[in-house]
Amino acid sequence: MKPVEPIVPLVPVAPVLEVQGLTTWLRTPRGIVTAVDNVSLSVAPGRALAIVGESGSGKSMTCLSMLGLLPSNGQVAAGEVRFKGRNLLALSREDMARVRGREIGMILQDAMTSLNPLMTIGSQVAEVFRYQQGIRDRAELRRKTIDVLTRARIPAAQDRLDSYPFQFSGGMRQRVSIAMNIACEPDLLICDEPTTALDVTVQTQIIGLLDTLRRERNMAIVFITHDLHLASQFCDDVAIMYAGRIVEAGPVDRVFAKPVHPYTEGLLRAVPTLGATGERLATIAGQPPVLSDLPAGCRFAPRCAYASALCHERYPDWYEWNEGADSVDPRGERRVACHATEARLQAAWSAS
Ligand code: SF4
Repeated sequence: MKPVEPIVPLVPVAPVLEVQGLTTWLRTPRGIVTAVDNVSLSVAPGRALAIVGESGSGKSMTCLSMLGLLPSNGQVAAGEVRFKGRNLLALSREDMARVRGREIGMILQDAMTSLNPLMTIGSQVAEVFRYQQGIRDRAELRRKTIDVLTRARIPAAQDRLDSYPFQFSGGMRQRVSIAMNIACEPDLLICDEPTTALDVTVQTQIIGLLDTLRRERNMAIVFITHDLHLASQFCDDVAIMYAGRIVEAGPVDRVFAKPVHPYTEGLLRAVPTLGATGERLATIAGQPPVLSDLPAGCRFAPRCAYASALCHERYPDWYEWNEGADSVDPRGERRVACHATEARLQAAWSAS
């Protein structure tokens, strides 16, 4: 098969997803906490955005808020989620259900949780075509099911239709989950740690498959992960989340090559290097804050080596700049929320 060419838009492309000021509250025994706080992001067709952060940083909650899938104690308190121009937050439950699955797919960490253990693989995939596209003809359902399973790299798909999920390996189950989510050729695929439960070889295969499908279909991808290596391999852009907020965002190669936010810097320093011996792995001292007891100013201040008095008093505003101003590619945009940004940028530029 001919290799798929990378997508390089000649002019900036309008985003397929644009989130503005998304804020989500959760009712907890300790009161109402803000799990997602004023999050803004966008992703264009054919591009992949990584949302990176520790457990509890708000990555998954951001995506559940966008899709109207919050738990019963959750509520979107503010913001807009524009998908192909429509505000998803204003859609009825029925309209939102049609958007999910048909125009937006979501792949979860453990495919076993998204597959019905009592239904055969074939009938589960066919169900997507029946529900979302109203197809009733059995021969057509079978043909489409085999076709999409084959596209998801299930070998001899025609012979596996009567298999149950427990008869498949973890990697094969994830492929079935991918097949179900690309069946209706969505414009946006949200992947929530889709390879965490898989071994490294299968992980590479699944990432390769997602990347090929993205390029073939010009599909946008939001990729939730805590794995910086995967984010850098697979994604174009990255948003780093900490305690419910995005603290740094931009093109993944530039952010990882020259992180500006001290938290991003700490995360990158903590990535183990193959072959490094005799050195202790760097860590970020302290723990992320509890959402019900957030610090008054910058949420990272109790762990930050650069914290000043101002950091403990006031949350920093966004500092935005464009490193690719000479390019028609919109990849130049970078933003960071840190009081020390100007000093840190000057130090980085004078050192380079
Ligand atoms: Fe550190 Fe202050 Fe920047 Fe927060 S605002 S990351 S405390 S330097």
